Amino acid sequence: MALSRRDVLRWAGAAVAAGGTVAAGSAPAAGGTVAASGAPAVARPGRWARLRARLAGELLVPGDDGYAAARLPFNSLFDHHRPAAIARCARAEDVQRCLEEARRGRIRVAARGGGHSYAAYSTPHDGLVVDLGPMAGIDVRPDGTAVIGAGARLGDVYAALAAAGRCLPLGNCPSVGIAGLTLGGGLGWVDRALGLTCDWLRAARVVTVDSRLVTASEDREPDLFWALRGGGGGNFGVVTSFEFATAPAPEVLTVFRLRFPAGSAADVLGAWQPWSAGAPDRLSSTCVVLPDGSVDLTGCSIGPAAALLGDLARLGVDGQLEHAEVDYPTATAIMTQGHPPRNAFRASSRIADGMWDDPAAVAGTVRGKDSALLIVGALGGAIDRLGPTDTAYPHRGAPTSIEVFGTVGDLPPELVTHEVDDAQSALAGLVGTGTYINYLDPEQEDWAATGYRHNLPRLRAVARRYDPDGVLRFPQAVGAR
Ligand SMILES: Cc1cc2nc3c(=O)[nH]c(=O)nc-3n(C[C@H](O)[C@H](O)[C@H](O)COP(=O)(O)OP(=O)(O)OC[C@H]3O[C@@H](n4cnc5c(N)ncnc54)[C@H](O)[C@@H]3O)c2cc1C
Repeated sequence: MALSRRDVLRWAGAAVAAGGTVAAGSAPAAGGTVAASGAPAVARPGRWARLRARLAGELLVPGDDGYAAARLPFNSLFDHHRPAAIARCARAEDVQRCLEEARRGRIRVAARGGGHSYAAYSTPHDGLVVDLGPMAGIDVRPDGTAVIGAGARLGDVYAALAAAGRCLPLGNCPSVGIAGLTLGGGLGWVDRALGLTCDWLRAARVVTVDSRLVTASEDREPDLFWALRGGGGGNFGVVTSFEFATAPAPEVLTVFRLRFPAGSAADVLGAWQPWSAGAPDRLSSTCVVLPDGSVDLTGCSIGPAAALLGDLARLGVDGQLEHAEVDYPTATAIMTQGHPPRNAFRASSRIADGMWDDPAAVAGTVRGKDSALLIVGALGGAIDRLGPTDTAYPHRGAPTSIEVFGTVGDLPPELVTHEVDDAQSALAGLVGTGTYINYLDPEQEDWAATGYRHNLPRLRAVARRYDPDGVLRFPQAVGAR
């Protein structure tokens, strides 16, 4: 059945709201970066007056107008994080001054891009937020290169690139920051066609903890450049801007949704995984598996509907199909709809290394739960055009990402945490132990070994070189033990 644009916008919003991409949190102590000594310093008013005088941007401390709103992270489970100060950096020199002050005072410090860290690591309790928000310029050059300030949000990046007829593979939520997304890899709704966001990075301007402003690229600071492509936000320095190559925006795309009723998840997952792994690269898709065993399969195929319909004919399970052939800005609007401005949630991740033997057991990990659901995304395609050590993102070759997501809503947070942990532990035995580092779960013990895998030793060496005293350290930093 063909849909009007309005219909498609409505259902896509519903699907994403049901299971978009997620976040998780933990106890207050887990948030924020730690001082070099491990002991957080207490904020002293004189320090902030001195820093304020040296910044081109604003410095907000408790009691200032704007502090109460500026301190809030995306995940409202972490609203108890109260930073000692928030520096709204207007230029790279502001970032340099902040890191000088953090080193000198041995205070917790963390960069903030879009503020969507699952555990609010960009909002350190009692620490200094280096907020890149004001540095959000986007310059698309005639050769297609895009220079993007580290405070830019995906919605603005999509719009600026599309206006120039260009695109990048980006994520599903417009308020996520380009910084965190890129530094952790960057999965999205055209990733099988175009790869990860970080695969398009050509250079980054970075303030290192000793307050040098450096350029990282294949030729300059190559180890740092390697680490910035999937090594996780917050680990090696503060990026002030990114330079990306971009692709021409596709002229025609087909977005689709297939709905399957309660109890069908085992059959759908059994058919979908080999189908999605063998699908042409132009086709990306995601299954949202609900506790009643119903499945929402949504996706996007670059090109006309006829090609997608041929692909879907090979899926082998029948669902209620809706689809629409649209231009690139419309596809972007559809695939990024439905996210609330803030949310309280818990989430965790597993990467499947191969085809699963028991799809019923995979679906069963959330059967009957109150909150937890699975967001099962196809990997492969262009993501695998690079090898597992070419960038810090280690999961090249894996066919599937599974995110366990639980909205807290009116439920006790502990119940949702338990449900998410339970499903994630069961999945480890069913699909493999890999973890996507952008879905960093503070409750997950094996996050470092499973998030970075074979790249962990090299990442730790880069972290030791660029941050020998652990100025940027936080509970799940690459250098944390
Ligand atoms: C609603 C929602 C939807 C999402 N959708 C997707 C998706 O489609 N695809 C996907 O791959 N991921 C997705 N994610 C996960 C997302 O990629 C990560 O949470 C990411 O880290 C968020 O980046 P941010 O800049 O918004 O967050 P922030 O909280 O600002 O930063 C995240 C981490 O990076 C550090 N950091 C931030 N800026 C810088 C900088 N300039 N230099 C160095 N370190 C920095 C922070 O200190 C923190 O540790 C989603 C998350 C949410 C909450």
